[in-house]
Amino acid sequence: MVRVQVCRRCGRINLPFKYRCKCGSREFDYIEMNIEGTLVATTKIFITPKGYPSPLLVGLVDAGNLKLLVRLEEEAPVGNVIEVVQADGGVLVGRPKKLVTDGS
Ligand SMILES: [Zn+2]
Repeated sequence: MVRVQVCRRCGRINLPFKYRCKCGSREFDYIEMNIEGTLVATTKIFITPKGYPSPLLVGLVDAGNLKLLVRLEEEAPVGNVIEVVQADGGVLVGRPKKLVTDGS
């Protein structure tokens, strides 16, 4: 589950949170929701701060309206489905799910 900001006027989901929605409204609700998307890019960061693993796996997840930069729990190919969860401190973590194939 991920905590997201929902605009009261237009229903747009914002993450990261915005001071003002694209529609101009500044009134929001905050809800927890499941987010899944497609991994569209991935990279490894080798020079990391103390306390972080090296390499650090990072991915860009396309979840429709939301394009999220996440820390990947394990390596995954582009195109894989990623479940996004929120770790302590608000960090977005991507959990690769098994690739769904068309059976061909
Ligand atoms: Zn709005």
